[in-house]
Amino acid sequence: MKLSVIIPCKNEEGNVSSIVEKIGKLLINIKYELIFIDDGSIDNTMNELRQLYEKDMKHIKVISFSRNFMKDAALLAGLEAANGEYTCIIDADLQQNPKYLLEMMDFLDKNENYDEVAMVMKERREDSKFMAFCKNKFYALMNKLCDIHLENAASDFRMFRKGVKKALISLSERNRFSKGMFSWVGFNVKYLPYDVEPRANGKTSFGFKTSLGYAMNGILAFSEKPLKLSFYFGILSLLASFIYLIVVLVQLWGFQKPLEAIYVLMILMLFLFGLLFVFIGILGKYIGAINNEVKKRPNYIVKEKLGFDNETIL
Ligand code: UDP
Ligand code: MG
Repeated sequence: MKLSVIIPCKNEEGNVSSIVEKIGKLLINIKYELIFIDDGSIDNTMNELRQLYEKDMKHIKVISFSRNFMKDAALLAGLEAANGEYTCIIDADLQQNPKYLLEMMDFLDKNENYDEVAMVMKERREDSKFMAFCKNKFYALMNKLCDIHLENAASDFRMFRKGVKKALISLSERNRFSKGMFSWVGFNVKYLPYDVEPRANGKTSFGFKTSLGYAMNGILAFSEKPLKLSFYFGILSLLASFIYLIVVLVQLWGFQKPLEAIYVLMILMLFLFGLLFVFIGILGKYIGAINNEVKKRPNYIVKEKLGFDNETIL
C-alpha cells in the first residue's frame, strides 16, 4: 500500500462522494486506501459512506464513532488504521484540493531526507476577517508561550512517512492538539504553499466558541507558562505593597497627612482578589486537564467499521 488518506467527517453528506471521485481520478496506478472517520455525524454522512464502501471496497474503509469525539480523535483513529507507506490527512469539505496529494507524494518520493510535507495556506479563508485575525494572533501567542514552534497557517493537510505516523500514535495523551503534536514529534518537514478553496457544501464545525476552546486546550497541552505567571505576579504585587508601605509611612510621619484608608483598601482588595481569582482559574484549568488525563478514557469509541477484517458493531 503506497498511500493512506485519512478523511475526518462531521456532517459532510454533501461532500464525501465528490472527494472519493476526485481522489479516484487522481490516484490512477497507485495503491491507496481512503479511511473515512465518521465523527458522530447527525446527517446522512454514514449512509453515504456505506454506499461508497459498497461501490468500491478495494479503496474505501470507514470507522464510525458512537458520538462526536472531535477532529483530533478522528485523526488518531485514522492514524491507527493506516497501512500505507505514506499517510495523508485531508478535510472532507474540499477546502484542501486533492490535487496537492500528487505534489506531496512526488516531493516525498524525490526527497528521501524529508519525512513530512505540510501544506501552508497562502491566505486564510475564514467566514470573517475577525476570525482570521484571532487565528493569526493565537499562533503568535502559542509561539510565545510554548517551547514548540507552530507554523502559522499550516493546517493538518499533510503527508508523512511511517515513522511520523508511529510517533504521533505513540503520544498517548487525551487532550490531543494535533497541530502541537506535529511540531513536538519533530522530523524533517517541508512546508509548501496551497490555495484554500471555499467549502464545497455544509458549514464549518469550528465557529468562534469551538475555536476558542480548541485554542485553550492547545495552550493547556503545550505550555506551562500561564502557571508560572502567577509566581511572577505574586512577586510583583509583593514589591508593590512594600513600596506602598514606604509611601504610607512617609505620608504619615513626614507630612502629617491623614490617610483615606478605605479607598486604599478597596483598590488593593479589588486588585489582589482579581489576581487571585484569575490564577485560581488558571490552576483550575490545568487541574481539569490533569483530571482528564488520569481518567485514561479512550480517545474515541467505535460503533461500526467497514472494510476492516474485524468489522464490529458495538
Ligand atoms: N471535523 C470532524 N470532527 C469535528 C469537526 C470537524 O471530523 O468535530 C472534520 C470536518 O468534517 C472536516 C474537517 O474536520 O472534514 C475540518 O472541519 P471544518 O471544515 O468544519 O473546519 P474549518 O475548515 O472551518 O477549519
Ligand atoms: Mg473546512
